Parts: sequence; C-alpha cells; structure tokens
Amino acid sequence: MAASFVIHSEDEIRRIKIAAAATARVRDEVAKRACPGMSTLELDEIAAALIAQENGRSAFLGYGGFPGHICISLNEEVVHGIGSANRIMTEDDIVSIDVGVEIDGAIGDTALTFALRPDPSPAVEMLLKTTNDALMAGIEQAVCGNYLNDVCSAIEKVAKSQKLGVVRDFVGHGVGIKLHEPPEIPNFRMASRGPKLQKGMVLAIEPMFNLGTEKITVDRIDHWTVRTRDKSLSAHFEHTVLITDNKPEILTWPKMM
Ligand code: MG
Repeated sequence: MAASFVIHSEDEIRRIKIAAAATARVRDEVAKRACPGMSTLELDEIAAALIAQENGRSAFLGYGGFPGHICISLNEEVVHGIGSANRIMTEDDIVSIDVGVEIDGAIGDTALTFALRPDPSPAVEMLLKTTNDALMAGIEQAVCGNYLNDVCSAIEKVAKSQKLGVVRDFVGHGVGIKLHEPPEIPNFRMASRGPKLQKGMVLAIEPMFNLGTEKITVDRIDHWTVRTRDKSLSAHFEHTVLITDNKPEILTWPKMM
C-alpha cells in the first residue's frame, strides 16, 4: 500500500524552503503586474521570466501536459486556466494565479485571487476574504498531533459561515519533492480523521470556494480549465505549509505565523 503521507528529511526541507520562498516572490510580482488591458498570455510570460530569474523551473509546465507556466483563472474559472493571447483582462475581472516553482529538485506551490478594480463589489470582497480566512483557519490547525481532518473541517466551517460552495472535485495535497504527494487535503470534513500530522510533513492547503454551488465543469476543448457550473465567481488561495514541533510554518509567506 502506498504511504498515506511523506515525512521530509532536513535536507529536503532546506531545499523546499528555498523553492517555496521563490514561488511566493513570483506569485506576488505576477499579481502586482496584472492589469486591465493585458492578456492572460502576457501574464503567463511575465511569470515565466520571473521563474527563470529565480533559477527555477515551472512545476506546472508539462505536468500532465499542462501548457502554461502558471495557472490563470478568471471569474467563474476555479483553477487550471491557461494563459491566452485572446483573453484580455478587464477591470471587472477577478484573477486567480497559481504558481509552482521547482528549484534543486524541490517544489513550492501557492495561489491567490484578487480583483483588478480597486473597489470590488461587497460579494467579491466577501468571497476573497472568506476563502483566505479559511486558508488561515486550516493552517492554524496544521500542528503536530492534530489530524488532517482538523485542517479540512476548519476550512469548511469558514465556507459554511458565509454559505459559499466548497469545490469537492479538486483538493489540496502534500508537496515538496513531487508536485502532488500524499495525502489529499479536501476542503471539507472527511469521513475519517486522516493521518496524524507530524513534523516534516509539507502540505499545500488550498481552499477553492464559489459564490454559488460547489458543482464544477472541465472545459471540453482544452481539458484543463475548471469552471463553476452555475457560472458563479470562484476564489482560490493556497500556501505551502511545513508541520513543525511548534507552530506551522508558511513557506510561501515570508513571515512565520
Ligand atoms: Mg496545489
């Protein structure tokens, strides 16, 4: 039976920290440069250049045949959007970027969603804030001795407090040396408590919440882009988190918790 989780060595953790910090820098710079009038392909090209500057490699490009350097998902797109020259961002868009960078055989994975207009609607503000709050609530439970389901339940609870749809078909995951390592990390309460969290585990925790229902569809032509079935807006936030003896360490956020 395959292991249900991975404990990383000291040397792996050292390398994962370097990759994750670079991933966070790319995420923040890409978000800063995104603006109305720019195509999502241009944004992908900016990301490619930033990843190269970090002496990294996109962990997504070519993964299962994915054609982009990062994932760029607008509005009702949940995850796995592909940069396109024909897709020009407007002030009304909300933009989700998901960045994975590999350096020296180690990987960081992080995402955030933001509105391009400075004064988004209250519904958009609530969606973005709640999804990020849920990520932080999940991370707070990512401590030694807790079970994985404590993380999952905490995330779902925040979604439910605002009646948001929790995407069930895509989930968080272990990360570090491979992009997807066990365990899977649902954003909802599991039937079992899951593995006990231990020092050296690295988790990509990534709530995906919708203003409407949890139901999604996958694009029939590109086979990647995930959208809400009811076309409602969707948000996605993700951090790479290290389980330690003490507080969880957010490796894609320059500060310790
Ligand atoms: Mg991920």
